[in-house]
Amino acid sequence: MKCLIIGSGPAGYTAAIYASRANLQPVLIEGPQLGGQLTITTEVENFPGYPDGVEPFQMMDDMRRQAERFGTQFVSAIVEKVEFANGQEPRTQSHKVWTDDGTLYEADTVIIATGASAKWLGIPSEKEYRGRGVSACATCDGFFYRGKTVAVVGGGDTACEEAIYLANLCQKVYMIVRKPYFRASEIMQQRVFDNPKIEVLFEHNTLRLTGETKVEGADLIYKKGLPDEEQRHIAIDGFFLAIGHQPNTKLFADYLDLDAEGYIKVKGDSPCTNIPGVFAAGDCADPHYRQAIVAAAAGCKAAIEADKYLKGM
Ligand code: NDP
Repeated sequence: MKCLIIGSGPAGYTAAIYASRANLQPVLIEGPQLGGQLTITTEVENFPGYPDGVEPFQMMDDMRRQAERFGTQFVSAIVEKVEFANGQEPRTQSHKVWTDDGTLYEADTVIIATGASAKWLGIPSEKEYRGRGVSACATCDGFFYRGKTVAVVGGGDTACEEAIYLANLCQKVYMIVRKPYFRASEIMQQRVFDNPKIEVLFEHNTLRLTGETKVEGADLIYKKGLPDEEQRHIAIDGFFLAIGHQPNTKLFADYLDLDAEGYIKVKGDSPCTNIPGVFAAGDCADPHYRQAIVAAAAGCKAAIEADKYLKGM
């Protein structure tokens, strides 16, 4: 096979559109989250070409159908193991990828577009109450908290977006922000401040969640480590995490150079990794921008580089 793409977010699908139009006959392994992370947001307002915004599933389905139109083959499976060839001349060895159904794929080029996953705080009660009041996806689980009180942890755009989404369903939303200010963009901050159902708790950290069988409250610490530090308790029914993401790159750690946070290192502005014929695109290699449009552009670059590489083989 000429080209194998791993991941079905904007990077993977865009790589597939370009690779199939270049006649690389790509196979795309869709992974555990069809459509990628974008599908857990409510609405996409910042992707050019959609002046009225677009429902994320719709956008990803549009991209998928566009790739399909040019001949991309899709495999619904999860990659479990890889073995990348060392790329020494002559480049005869192909890269090997195994999926969870036991199938082995051998490809001359691999485009990794595995994205990133939500981070967790790491407090014990988070695990204890997972599925019983703790969630990392407001869009998925918000429905269960209609008319209730919830908290969202984080001060970025995701946290603001989730808080606004939840405020449409819930009677009250606390935002637990560890710094005295937001990291989110001005427009998102303004929407939060303008929403009477949202109360922002700046300089608060979560100590533990409480409740008999499900989340009923959270113990917070205000101004941790400062002279006026104090503990406070809030009554909540749901606790939503929105504190950023972890790149999905563990599988590749034996072969690819990763940075300290686990993002795949690429050469300059290119999608080229340390292994010839293996390219990385999207959030798995982007600690800075993490935007659908940037991921899509990286997918395009990866397909162009894969084509160039194959022509030089
Ligand atoms: P960010 O990394 O931007 O923000 C993470 C937030 O979580 C920060 O406020 C951070 O605090 C906080 N945080 C991290 N770890 C902890 C912890 N252990 N305890 C408490 N708080 C913690 O991630 P996002 O997911 O919000 O956004 C990622 C990217 O996606 C950004 O570029 C964003 O702009 C973009 N995005 C755009 C959207 C849009 O345009 N509609 C929607 C959603 C995301 P601190 O600031 O103190 O580090």
